[in-house]
Amino acid sequence: MSTLPSATGQCLCGAVSFTATEVDTHMHVCHCGMCRRHAGGPTMSVHVGGITFKGDGDILRYRSSDFAERGSCKKCGSHLFYHLFQPDMYIMSIGAFDDQAKFEMGGEIYIDAKPQGYAFAGDHSRETEHEFLKRIGVIQ
Ligand SMILES: [Zn+2]
Ligand SMILES: [Zn+2]
Repeated sequence: MSTLPSATGQCLCGAVSFTATEVDTHMHVCHCGMCRRHAGGPTMSVHVGGITFKGDGDILRYRSSDFAERGSCKKCGSHLFYHLFQPDMYIMSIGAFDDQAKFEMGGEIYIDAKPQGYAFAGDHSRETEHEFLKRIGVIQ
């Protein structure tokens, strides 16, 4: 696993910008129905160790479940993050970063929810909802 010490990013209009630390370069693609509806397609995102925002007041935080919220810009609508409350963890959309060249495919999750009309090429893990939830310890 490789990480970048820090990386910067912003939304489309620039009202919200951020500096993330300990950025995992392996992105995960999520095909779940909530991600697709919120982001307009599958989400491609990376875990970060820490995050500081500029323009916090322009972040729209939508609580999509009991355990997480999704962040976007109030002004331009750019999708910015998925924020897990416990443990406190930000998973940032790779599209929000200024330099996206270092990100590589880490794997796909909720592959069983993926519509059949598109697919990501390559040899990487493709977990179903059940396999993913089992791996992270949500279910036995
Ligand atoms: Zn914006
Ligand atoms: Zn999802």
